[in-house]
Amino acid sequence: MRLLFVSSEVYPFAKTGGLADVSEALPRALANLGTDIRILMPAYACVLRQVSRAQPIADLSGILGVACARLLSARLPGSDIPVWLADAPELYDREGLYQDSSGQDWPDNARRFAFLSHVAARIGLATLEPLWQPQVIHANDWHAGLVPLLVSAHQGPRPASVFTMHNLAFQGIFGPEVVPQLDLPEGSFSPEGAEYYGKISLLKAGICHADSLTTVSPTYAREILTAEYGFGLDGILRARAADLRGILNGADYGIWDPAHDPFLAANYDSARLNGKKLCKAALQHELGLVADPEVPLLTFISRMTEQKMADVLLELLPRLAAQGLQLCVLSDGDHDLERRFREVASAHAGTFAVRIGYEEPLAHRMHAGADLLLAPARFEPCGLTQIYAMRYGTVPVVRATGGLADTVVDTSRTTISDGTATGFVFAEPSAADLDAAITRAVAFFREPLAWRRLQLNDMKQDFSWNRSAAIYYSLYQDLCARAQKRASPSRVAGLRNGTPAIEKATA
Ligand code: ADP
Repeated sequence: MRLLFVSSEVYPFAKTGGLADVSEALPRALANLGTDIRILMPAYACVLRQVSRAQPIADLSGILGVACARLLSARLPGSDIPVWLADAPELYDREGLYQDSSGQDWPDNARRFAFLSHVAARIGLATLEPLWQPQVIHANDWHAGLVPLLVSAHQGPRPASVFTMHNLAFQGIFGPEVVPQLDLPEGSFSPEGAEYYGKISLLKAGICHADSLTTVSPTYAREILTAEYGFGLDGILRARAADLRGILNGADYGIWDPAHDPFLAANYDSARLNGKKLCKAALQHELGLVADPEVPLLTFISRMTEQKMADVLLELLPRLAAQGLQLCVLSDGDHDLERRFREVASAHAGTFAVRIGYEEPLAHRMHAGADLLLAPARFEPCGLTQIYAMRYGTVPVVRATGGLADTVVDTSRTTISDGTATGFVFAEPSAADLDAAITRAVAFFREPLAWRRLQLNDMKQDFSWNRSAAIYYSLYQDLCARAQKRASPSRVAGLRNGTPAIEKATA
Protein backbone atom coordinates (compact mmCIF):
# COMPACT_ATOMS: atom_id res chain seq x y z
CA MET A 1 0.00 0.00 0.00
CA ARG A 2 1.55 3.28 -1.14
CA LEU A 3 0.09 6.19 0.80
CA LEU A 4 0.68 9.93 0.75
CA PHE A 5 -0.42 11.50 4.04
CA VAL A 6 -0.93 15.26 3.74
CA SER A 7 -1.09 17.40 6.85
CA SER A 8 -0.38 20.98 7.75
CA GLU A 9 1.02 19.98 11.18
CA VAL A 10 3.17 17.05 12.21
CA TYR A 11 4.66 16.64 15.71
CA PRO A 12 7.44 17.43 16.56
CA PHE A 13 8.05 19.63 13.51
CA ALA A 14 5.00 21.89 13.80
CA LYS A 15 2.09 21.70 16.24
CA THR A 16 -0.82 23.85 17.31
CA GLY A 17 -3.09 21.01 18.47
CA GLY A 18 -4.20 17.43 18.12
CA LEU A 19 -3.81 17.33 14.32
CA ALA A 20 -0.03 17.35 14.78
CA ASP A 21 -0.13 14.45 17.24
CA VAL A 22 -2.35 12.39 14.92
CA SER A 23 -0.13 13.17 11.92
CA GLU A 24 2.87 11.78 13.78
CA ALA A 25 1.27 8.76 15.41
CA LEU A 26 -1.04 7.43 12.69
CA PRO A 27 1.70 7.30 10.00
CA ARG A 28 3.96 5.43 12.43
CA ALA A 29 1.20 2.90 13.12
CA LEU A 30 0.46 2.56 9.39
CA ALA A 31 4.15 2.03 8.66
CA ASN A 32 4.14 -0.77 11.24
CA LEU A 33 1.34 -2.39 9.24
CA GLY A 34 3.59 -2.37 6.18
CA THR A 35 2.33 0.79 4.47
CA ASP A 36 4.81 2.51 2.18
CA ILE A 37 3.98 5.97 3.50
CA ARG A 38 5.24 9.48 2.79
CA ILE A 39 4.08 12.47 4.83
CA LEU A 40 3.75 15.82 3.05
CA MET A 41 3.71 19.08 5.01
CA PRO A 42 4.81 22.70 4.55
CA ALA A 43 8.41 23.60 5.36
CA TYR A 44 7.60 26.29 7.91
CA ALA A 45 10.52 28.13 9.51
CA CYS A 46 10.14 26.01 12.68
CA VAL A 47 10.35 22.82 10.60
CA LEU A 48 13.51 23.84 8.76
CA ARG A 49 15.17 24.64 12.08
CA GLN A 50 14.60 21.04 13.20
CA VAL A 51 15.71 19.11 10.13
CA SER A 52 19.28 18.63 9.19
CA ARG A 53 20.38 17.16 5.90
CA ALA A 54 16.98 17.42 4.20
CA GLN A 55 17.53 16.39 0.60
CA PRO A 56 16.02 18.35 -2.30
CA ILE A 57 14.12 15.83 -4.42
CA ALA A 58 11.99 17.89 -6.79
CA ASP A 59 11.59 21.37 -8.16
CA LEU A 60 8.25 22.96 -7.28
CA SER A 61 8.93 26.35 -8.85
CA GLY A 62 6.12 27.73 -10.95
CA ILE A 63 3.25 26.05 -9.06
CA LEU A 64 0.71 28.83 -8.37
CA GLY A 65 3.29 31.27 -9.71
CA VAL A 66 5.66 30.68 -6.79
CA ALA A 67 9.04 31.65 -8.17
CA CYS A 68 11.28 29.51 -6.08
CA ALA A 69 10.21 26.30 -4.37
CA ARG A 70 11.39 22.75 -3.97
CA LEU A 71 10.43 19.49 -2.33
CA LEU A 72 12.75 18.39 0.47
CA SER A 73 12.92 14.94 1.99
CA ALA A 74 13.51 14.51 5.73
CA ARG A 75 12.58 11.74 8.17
CA LEU A 76 10.17 11.48 11.04
CA PRO A 77 12.47 11.37 14.10
CA GLY A 78 13.39 7.86 15.20
CA SER A 79 11.92 6.26 12.10
CA ASP A 80 12.50 5.63 8.40
CA ILE A 81 9.29 7.40 7.45
CA PRO A 82 10.00 10.06 4.82
CA VAL A 83 8.56 13.49 5.53
CA TRP A 84 8.38 15.49 2.33
CA LEU A 85 8.53 19.21 2.93
CA ALA A 86 7.04 21.70 0.50
CA ASP A 87 9.71 24.37 0.79
CA ALA A 88 8.37 27.63 -0.62
CA PRO A 89 9.99 30.42 1.41
CA GLU A 90 7.64 33.11 0.14
CA LEU A 91 4.70 31.12 1.57
CA TYR A 92 6.03 29.30 4.64
CA ASP A 93 9.20 30.94 5.92
CA ARG A 94 7.35 32.63 8.80
CA GLU A 95 7.02 32.02 12.53
CA GLY A 96 3.26 31.47 12.87
CA LEU A 97 1.71 28.50 11.10
CA TYR A 98 -1.55 30.24 10.31
CA GLN A 99 -1.31 33.64 11.98
CA ASP A 100 1.11 36.43 12.71
CA SER A 101 2.22 37.25 16.25
CA SER A 102 -0.80 39.51 16.80
CA GLY A 103 -3.20 36.64 16.07
CA GLN A 104 -4.17 37.82 12.57
CA ASP A 105 -4.53 35.15 9.89
CA TRP A 106 -1.88 35.43 7.19
CA PRO A 107 -3.62 37.23 4.31
CA ASP A 108 -2.40 34.66 1.75
CA ASN A 109 -3.54 31.52 3.61
CA ALA A 110 -5.71 30.40 0.69
CA ARG A 111 -2.73 30.45 -1.66
CA ARG A 112 -0.40 28.92 0.97
CA PHE A 113 -2.53 25.84 1.44
CA ALA A 114 -3.67 25.61 -2.18
CA PHE A 115 0.04 25.32 -2.96
CA LEU A 116 0.36 22.39 -0.55
CA SER A 117 -2.65 20.71 -2.19
CA HIS A 118 -1.26 21.22 -5.71
CA VAL A 119 2.02 19.64 -4.66
CA ALA A 120 0.13 16.67 -3.21
CA ALA A 121 -1.96 16.31 -6.36
CA ARG A 122 1.11 16.40 -8.58
CA ILE A 123 2.77 13.71 -6.52
CA GLY A 124 -0.46 11.72 -6.71
CA LEU A 125 -0.72 12.09 -10.47
CA ALA A 126 2.98 11.40 -10.98
CA THR A 127 3.62 14.68 -12.73
CA LEU A 128 6.51 15.43 -10.39
CA GLU A 129 9.87 13.80 -10.03
CA PRO A 130 10.57 11.50 -8.26
CA LEU A 131 8.13 9.05 -9.76
CA TRP A 132 6.86 7.50 -6.56
CA GLN A 133 3.11 7.44 -6.92
CA PRO A 134 0.69 6.78 -4.09
CA GLN A 135 -2.33 4.52 -4.54
CA VAL A 136 -4.16 6.58 -1.93
CA ILE A 137 -3.81 10.18 -0.77
CA HIS A 138 -5.00 10.81 2.78
CA ALA A 139 -5.69 14.55 3.08
CA ASN A 140 -6.33 16.15 6.47
CA ASP A 141 -8.44 19.16 7.31
CA TRP A 142 -9.15 22.25 5.23
CA HIS A 143 -5.47 22.89 4.57
CA ALA A 144 -5.47 19.85 2.29
CA GLY A 145 -9.12 20.15 1.22
CA LEU A 146 -8.29 20.96 -2.38
CA VAL A 147 -6.40 17.68 -2.84
CA PRO A 148 -9.51 15.53 -3.46
CA LEU A 149 -10.91 18.18 -5.80
CA LEU A 150 -7.69 18.38 -7.83
CA VAL A 151 -7.18 14.63 -8.17
CA SER A 152 -10.83 13.84 -8.88
CA ALA A 153 -10.81 16.33 -11.75
CA HIS A 154 -8.08 14.34 -13.44
CA GLN A 155 -9.16 12.28 -16.44
CA GLY A 156 -7.50 8.89 -16.31
CA PRO A 157 -5.84 6.80 -13.63
CA ARG A 158 -5.58 8.59 -10.32
CA PRO A 159 -5.05 7.77 -6.69
CA ALA A 160 -8.04 7.33 -4.40
CA SER A 161 -8.56 10.04 -1.79
CA VAL A 162 -9.50 9.96 1.87
CA PHE A 163 -10.38 13.23 3.56
CA THR A 164 -10.32 13.42 7.35
CA MET A 165 -12.11 16.22 9.19
CA HIS A 166 -10.42 16.90 12.51
CA ASN A 167 -12.62 19.88 13.40
CA LEU A 168 -15.51 21.28 11.38
CA ALA A 169 -15.15 24.65 13.08
CA PHE A 170 -12.14 25.37 10.88
CA GLN A 171 -13.28 25.50 7.27
CA GLY A 172 -10.75 27.51 5.28
CA ILE A 173 -13.29 29.98 3.91
CA PHE A 174 -11.98 32.81 1.72
CA GLY A 175 -13.48 35.57 -0.40
CA PRO A 176 -14.17 34.94 -4.11
CA GLU A 177 -11.30 37.26 -5.06
CA VAL A 178 -8.76 34.54 -4.16
CA VAL A 179 -10.26 31.98 -6.54
CA PRO A 180 -8.26 33.07 -9.63
CA GLN A 181 -5.03 32.63 -7.63
CA LEU A 182 -5.70 28.98 -6.87
CA ASP A 183 -5.45 27.41 -10.33
CA LEU A 184 -8.54 25.26 -9.87
CA PRO A 185 -10.16 23.07 -12.52
CA GLU A 186 -12.91 24.75 -14.48
CA GLY A 187 -16.25 24.71 -12.70
CA SER A 188 -14.73 24.38 -9.22
CA PHE A 189 -16.27 27.60 -8.00
CA SER A 190 -19.80 26.25 -8.07
CA PRO A 191 -22.18 24.82 -5.49
CA GLU A 192 -21.12 21.28 -6.53
CA GLY A 193 -17.49 22.31 -6.22
CA ALA A 194 -15.98 24.47 -3.50
CA GLU A 195 -18.31 27.48 -3.53
CA TYR A 196 -19.97 28.22 -0.20
CA TYR A 197 -22.41 31.13 -0.03
CA GLY A 198 -20.45 33.17 -2.56
CA LYS A 199 -17.10 32.34 -0.96
CA ILE A 200 -14.73 29.43 -1.38
CA SER A 201 -14.53 26.75 1.30
CA LEU A 202 -11.52 24.48 1.15
CA LEU A 203 -13.16 22.15 3.68
CA LYS A 204 -16.21 21.80 1.47
CA ALA A 205 -13.95 21.01 -1.50
CA GLY A 206 -12.58 18.05 0.44
CA ILE A 207 -15.98 16.88 1.63
CA CYS A 208 -17.55 16.99 -1.82
CA HIS A 209 -14.72 15.37 -3.78
CA ALA A 210 -13.00 12.78 -1.60
CA ASP A 211 -13.71 9.14 -2.34
CA SER A 212 -14.06 8.51 1.36
CA LEU A 213 -14.62 10.77 4.35
CA THR A 214 -13.60 10.16 7.90
CA THR A 215 -13.71 12.03 11.14
CA VAL A 216 -12.00 11.30 14.40
CA SER A 217 -14.61 9.58 16.57
CA PRO A 218 -17.83 7.64 15.99
CA THR A 219 -19.97 10.03 18.04
CA TYR A 220 -18.66 13.11 16.21
CA ALA A 221 -19.37 11.34 12.90
CA ARG A 222 -23.03 11.15 13.95
CA GLU A 223 -23.14 14.62 15.48
CA ILE A 224 -21.90 16.44 12.37
CA LEU A 225 -24.93 15.24 10.44
CA THR A 226 -27.07 17.51 12.63
CA ALA A 227 -27.60 21.25 12.36
CA GLU A 228 -26.32 21.70 15.93
CA TYR A 229 -22.83 20.31 15.20
CA GLY A 230 -22.61 20.53 11.40
CA PHE A 231 -21.31 24.12 11.22
CA GLY A 232 -23.45 24.74 8.15
CA LEU A 233 -22.14 21.63 6.38
CA ASP A 234 -24.57 19.09 7.83
CA GLY A 235 -26.66 19.00 4.64
CA ILE A 236 -23.62 18.24 2.48
CA LEU A 237 -22.41 15.71 5.01
CA ARG A 238 -25.79 13.98 5.13
CA ALA A 239 -25.65 13.68 1.36
CA ARG A 240 -22.32 11.88 1.76
CA ALA A 241 -23.22 9.93 4.90
CA ALA A 242 -22.71 6.58 3.15
CA ASP A 243 -19.03 7.46 2.61
CA LEU A 244 -18.44 8.87 6.10
CA ARG A 245 -16.90 6.96 9.01
CA GLY A 246 -15.85 7.91 12.50
CA ILE A 247 -12.49 6.34 13.41
CA LEU A 248 -11.31 7.08 16.91
CA ASN A 249 -7.94 8.77 17.32
CA GLY A 250 -5.33 7.08 19.48
CA ALA A 251 -2.33 7.99 21.57
CA ASP A 252 1.33 7.50 20.83
CA TYR A 253 2.39 5.89 24.10
CA GLY A 254 5.98 6.21 22.94
CA ILE A 255 5.54 9.91 23.73
CA TRP A 256 2.71 9.95 26.27
CA ASP A 257 3.57 7.45 29.00
CA PRO A 258 4.69 8.37 32.53
CA ALA A 259 6.87 5.27 32.68
CA HIS A 260 9.43 6.82 30.33
CA ASP A 261 8.35 10.45 29.82
CA PRO A 262 11.62 12.44 29.85
CA PHE A 263 9.92 15.67 30.94
CA LEU A 264 8.82 14.43 34.39
CA ALA A 265 10.41 14.88 37.80
CA ALA A 266 9.87 11.14 38.37
CA ASN A 267 8.72 8.30 36.17
CA TYR A 268 5.96 5.99 37.34
CA ASP A 269 3.48 3.37 36.30
CA SER A 270 0.49 1.66 37.89
CA ALA A 271 2.74 -0.50 40.08
CA ARG A 272 4.83 2.50 41.22
CA LEU A 273 2.33 5.29 41.75
CA ASN A 274 4.58 7.04 44.23
CA GLY A 275 6.27 8.79 41.31
CA LYS A 276 3.00 10.58 40.61
CA LYS A 277 3.11 12.13 44.09
CA LEU A 278 6.59 13.42 43.32
CA CYS A 279 5.35 14.85 40.03
CA LYS A 280 2.52 16.64 41.86
CA ALA A 281 4.91 18.14 44.40
CA ALA A 282 7.31 19.20 41.63
CA LEU A 283 4.49 20.80 39.66
CA GLN A 284 3.19 22.70 42.68
CA HIS A 285 6.72 23.95 43.28
CA GLU A 286 7.32 24.86 39.61
CA LEU A 287 4.09 26.86 39.37
CA GLY A 288 4.24 28.54 42.79
CA LEU A 289 1.24 26.62 44.13
CA VAL A 290 0.99 25.78 47.82
CA ALA A 291 2.84 22.50 48.39
CA ASP A 292 0.06 20.28 49.67
CA PRO A 293 -0.39 16.67 48.57
CA GLU A 294 -3.94 16.52 49.96
CA VAL A 295 -5.48 19.39 48.01
CA PRO A 296 -7.04 18.31 44.69
CA LEU A 297 -5.00 19.76 41.81
CA LEU A 298 -7.00 20.38 38.63
CA THR A 299 -5.46 21.12 35.25
CA PHE A 300 -6.69 22.60 31.97
CA ILE A 301 -4.35 22.10 28.99
CA SER A 302 -6.10 23.40 25.98
CA ARG A 303 -6.62 26.06 23.38
CA MET A 304 -8.32 28.98 25.13
CA THR A 305 -11.52 29.05 23.15
CA GLU A 306 -15.26 28.81 23.57
CA GLN A 307 -15.11 25.35 21.97
CA LYS A 308 -13.18 24.22 25.05
CA MET A 309 -15.59 26.08 27.37
CA ALA A 310 -12.76 28.28 28.64
CA ASP A 311 -15.34 31.05 29.16
CA VAL A 312 -17.44 28.74 31.35
CA LEU A 313 -14.42 27.64 33.35
CA LEU A 314 -13.55 31.29 33.92
CA GLU A 315 -17.02 31.83 35.37
CA LEU A 316 -16.44 28.96 37.75
CA LEU A 317 -13.05 30.04 39.10
CA PRO A 318 -14.36 31.86 42.19
CA ARG A 319 -16.26 28.72 43.19
CA LEU A 320 -13.21 26.52 42.72
CA ALA A 321 -11.18 28.91 44.88
CA ALA A 322 -13.89 28.91 47.56
CA GLN A 323 -13.74 25.10 47.65
CA GLY A 324 -9.98 25.27 48.23
CA LEU A 325 -9.12 23.51 44.95
CA GLN A 326 -5.92 24.20 43.08
CA LEU A 327 -5.95 24.79 39.34
CA CYS A 328 -3.16 25.09 36.81
CA VAL A 329 -3.89 26.27 33.30
CA LEU A 330 -1.69 25.97 30.20
CA SER A 331 -3.43 27.58 27.32
CA ASP A 332 -3.39 30.10 24.54
CA GLY A 333 -6.00 31.45 22.19
CA ASP A 334 -8.57 34.15 22.79
CA HIS A 335 -6.63 37.18 24.03
CA ASP A 336 -9.49 38.57 26.12
CA LEU A 337 -10.01 35.24 27.92
CA GLU A 338 -6.25 34.96 28.45
CA ARG A 339 -6.19 38.36 30.16
CA ARG A 340 -9.13 37.51 32.39
CA PHE A 341 -7.63 34.17 33.42
CA ARG A 342 -4.38 35.94 34.27
CA GLU A 343 -6.24 38.49 36.42
CA VAL A 344 -8.06 35.83 38.41
CA ALA A 345 -4.85 33.85 38.85
CA SER A 346 -2.96 36.84 40.22
CA ALA A 347 -5.76 37.42 42.73
CA HIS A 348 -5.40 33.79 43.87
CA ALA A 349 -1.64 33.26 43.87
CA GLY A 350 -0.71 29.91 45.39
CA THR A 351 -4.09 28.45 44.43
CA PHE A 352 -4.31 29.13 40.70
CA ALA A 353 -1.46 29.20 38.20
CA VAL A 354 -2.07 30.34 34.65
CA ARG A 355 0.56 29.93 31.94
CA ILE A 356 -0.37 31.55 28.66
CA GLY A 357 1.58 30.12 25.76
CA TYR A 358 2.46 26.83 24.21
CA GLU A 359 4.89 24.65 26.15
CA GLU A 360 5.10 20.99 25.26
CA PRO A 361 7.24 19.84 28.24
CA LEU A 362 5.00 21.67 30.73
CA ALA A 363 1.94 19.99 29.18
CA HIS A 364 3.53 16.63 30.05
CA ARG A 365 4.33 17.72 33.62
CA MET A 366 0.76 18.94 34.11
CA HIS A 367 -0.68 15.68 32.81
CA ALA A 368 1.48 13.86 35.35
CA GLY A 369 1.26 16.19 38.34
CA ALA A 370 -2.47 16.93 38.39
CA ASP A 371 -5.19 14.82 39.98
CA LEU A 372 -7.96 15.85 37.61
CA LEU A 373 -7.91 17.00 33.98
CA LEU A 374 -10.68 19.38 32.98
CA ALA A 375 -11.66 18.71 29.37
CA PRO A 376 -15.01 20.39 28.99
CA ALA A 377 -16.15 21.22 25.46
CA ARG A 378 -19.14 22.55 23.58
CA PHE A 379 -18.11 20.12 20.87
CA GLU A 380 -15.06 17.88 20.64
CA PRO A 381 -14.25 15.86 17.51
CA CYS A 382 -12.05 13.48 19.50
CA GLY A 383 -9.89 15.19 22.10
CA LEU A 384 -6.52 13.78 22.98
CA THR A 385 -5.76 15.30 26.37
CA GLN A 386 -8.32 13.11 28.16
CA ILE A 387 -6.73 10.05 26.55
CA TYR A 388 -3.24 11.14 27.61
CA ALA A 389 -4.44 12.08 31.12
CA MET A 390 -5.80 8.58 31.72
CA ARG A 391 -2.42 7.00 31.03
CA TYR A 392 -0.94 9.37 33.64
CA GLY A 393 -3.53 8.37 36.26
CA THR A 394 -5.08 11.83 36.02
CA VAL A 395 -8.82 11.49 36.00
CA PRO A 396 -10.65 13.37 33.23
CA VAL A 397 -13.77 15.49 33.68
CA VAL A 398 -15.44 15.74 30.29
CA ARG A 399 -18.66 16.74 28.61
CA ALA A 400 -20.57 13.95 26.87
CA THR A 401 -19.86 15.00 23.31
CA GLY A 402 -17.85 13.67 20.35
CA GLY A 403 -14.76 11.69 21.20
CA LEU A 404 -15.01 12.64 24.87
CA ALA A 405 -18.21 10.57 25.06
CA ASP A 406 -16.47 7.72 23.22
CA THR A 407 -13.44 7.55 25.51
CA VAL A 408 -14.57 8.29 29.08
CA VAL A 409 -16.94 6.23 31.24
CA ASP A 410 -18.68 8.08 34.05
CA THR A 411 -17.89 7.13 37.63
CA SER A 412 -20.48 5.75 39.98
CA ARG A 413 -20.35 3.16 42.77
CA THR A 414 -21.33 0.56 40.14
CA THR A 415 -18.76 1.51 37.50
CA ILE A 416 -16.04 1.82 40.11
CA SER A 417 -16.71 -1.68 41.36
CA ASP A 418 -17.12 -3.29 37.94
CA GLY A 419 -13.87 -1.63 36.82
CA THR A 420 -15.30 0.39 33.94
CA ALA A 421 -15.21 3.90 35.49
CA THR A 422 -12.60 6.21 34.00
CA GLY A 423 -13.76 9.77 34.65
CA PHE A 424 -16.59 12.20 35.28
CA VAL A 425 -19.00 13.02 32.49
CA PHE A 426 -21.52 15.86 32.40
CA ALA A 427 -24.27 16.66 29.93
CA GLU A 428 -24.84 20.37 29.35
CA PRO A 429 -22.16 22.93 28.44
CA SER A 430 -23.02 25.00 31.50
CA ALA A 431 -21.13 26.18 34.58
CA ALA A 432 -23.66 24.32 36.76
CA ASP A 433 -23.03 20.96 35.07
CA LEU A 434 -19.26 21.38 35.02
CA ASP A 435 -19.34 22.42 38.66
CA ALA A 436 -21.43 19.40 39.63
CA ALA A 437 -19.04 17.04 37.84
CA ILE A 438 -16.02 18.58 39.59
CA THR A 439 -17.82 18.33 42.94
CA ARG A 440 -18.51 14.62 42.33
CA ALA A 441 -14.90 14.08 41.30
CA VAL A 442 -13.54 15.82 44.39
CA ALA A 443 -15.79 13.70 46.62
CA PHE A 444 -14.25 10.56 45.13
CA PHE A 445 -10.77 12.07 45.46
CA ARG A 446 -11.38 12.23 49.21
CA GLU A 447 -11.89 8.45 49.27
CA PRO A 448 -8.36 7.11 48.74
CA LEU A 449 -9.34 3.52 47.95
CA ALA A 450 -11.99 4.42 45.38
CA TRP A 451 -9.66 7.03 43.89
CA ARG A 452 -6.79 4.56 43.57
CA ARG A 453 -9.11 2.13 41.81
CA LEU A 454 -10.21 4.81 39.38
CA GLN A 455 -6.62 5.82 38.66
CA LEU A 456 -5.63 2.22 38.00
CA ASN A 457 -8.61 1.77 35.66
CA ASP A 458 -7.48 4.85 33.78
CA MET A 459 -3.88 3.77 33.50
CA LYS A 460 -4.76 0.42 31.99
CA GLN A 461 -6.94 1.87 29.21
CA ASP A 462 -5.44 1.13 25.82
CA PHE A 463 -6.00 3.82 23.22
CA SER A 464 -2.91 2.93 21.20
CA TRP A 465 -3.21 3.45 17.47
CA ASN A 466 -3.04 -0.21 16.42
CA ARG A 467 -6.79 -0.77 16.17
CA SER A 468 -7.66 2.50 14.43
CA ALA A 469 -4.68 2.28 12.07
CA ALA A 470 -5.90 -1.16 10.98
CA ILE A 471 -9.33 0.36 10.21
CA TYR A 472 -7.71 3.07 8.07
CA TYR A 473 -5.62 0.42 6.34
CA SER A 474 -8.64 -1.63 5.38
CA LEU A 475 -10.38 1.53 4.19
CA TYR A 476 -7.44 2.23 1.86
CA GLN A 477 -7.64 -1.35 0.61
CA ASP A 478 -11.37 -1.00 -0.08
CA LEU A 479 -10.74 2.16 -2.04
CA CYS A 480 -8.06 0.49 -4.12
CA ALA A 481 -10.44 -2.36 -4.83
CA ARG A 482 -13.09 0.14 -5.93
CA ALA A 483 -10.55 1.87 -8.17
CA GLN A 484 -9.72 -1.51 -9.63
CA LYS A 485 -13.37 -2.08 -10.49
CA ARG A 486 -13.64 1.41 -12.02
CA ALA A 487 -10.61 0.82 -14.19
CA SER A 488 -11.70 -2.60 -15.33
CA PRO A 489 -15.48 -2.98 -15.64
CA SER A 490 -15.09 -6.69 -16.12
CA ARG A 491 -12.62 -8.27 -13.80
CA VAL A 492 -12.49 -11.30 -16.05
CA ALA A 493 -11.61 -9.07 -19.00
CA GLY A 494 -8.90 -7.42 -16.89
CA LEU A 495 -7.42 -10.74 -16.02
CA ARG A 496 -7.61 -11.88 -19.62
CA ASN A 497 -5.47 -8.90 -20.57
CA GLY A 498 -2.86 -10.26 -18.25
CA THR A 499 -2.53 -6.92 -16.46
CA PRO A 500 -3.59 -6.81 -12.83
CA ALA A 501 -6.33 -4.20 -12.76
CA ILE A 502 -5.05 -2.64 -9.54
CA GLU A 503 -1.85 -1.64 -11.28
CA LYS A 504 -3.70 -0.18 -14.20
CA ALA A 505 -5.77 1.95 -11.87
CA THR A 506 -3.01 3.22 -9.68
CA ALA A 507 0.45 2.70 -11.08
P1 ADP B 1 -7.31 20.30 19.81
O1 ADP B 1 -6.69 19.56 18.69
O2 ADP B 1 -8.74 20.63 19.61
O3 ADP B 1 -6.51 21.49 20.22
P2 ADP B 1 -6.77 17.89 21.36
O4 ADP B 1 -7.13 17.50 22.75
O5 ADP B 1 -7.13 16.96 20.27
O6 ADP B 1 -7.33 19.35 21.12
O7 ADP B 1 -5.17 18.06 21.28
C1 ADP B 1 -4.53 19.03 21.99
C2 ADP B 1 -3.03 18.78 21.94
O8 ADP B 1 -2.38 20.03 22.11
C3 ADP B 1 -2.53 17.92 23.08
O9 ADP B 1 -1.32 17.29 22.68
C4 ADP B 1 -2.26 18.96 24.18
O10 ADP B 1 -1.32 18.50 25.14
C5 ADP B 1 -1.70 20.07 23.36
N1 ADP B 1 -1.86 21.42 23.89
C6 ADP B 1 -2.97 22.20 23.88
N2 ADP B 1 -2.70 23.42 24.37
C7 ADP B 1 -1.39 23.41 24.70
C8 ADP B 1 -0.50 24.40 25.25
N3 ADP B 1 -0.92 25.64 25.54
N4 ADP B 1 0.79 24.05 25.45
C9 ADP B 1 1.22 22.80 25.14
N5 ADP B 1 0.44 21.84 24.61
C10 ADP B 1 -0.85 22.14 24.39
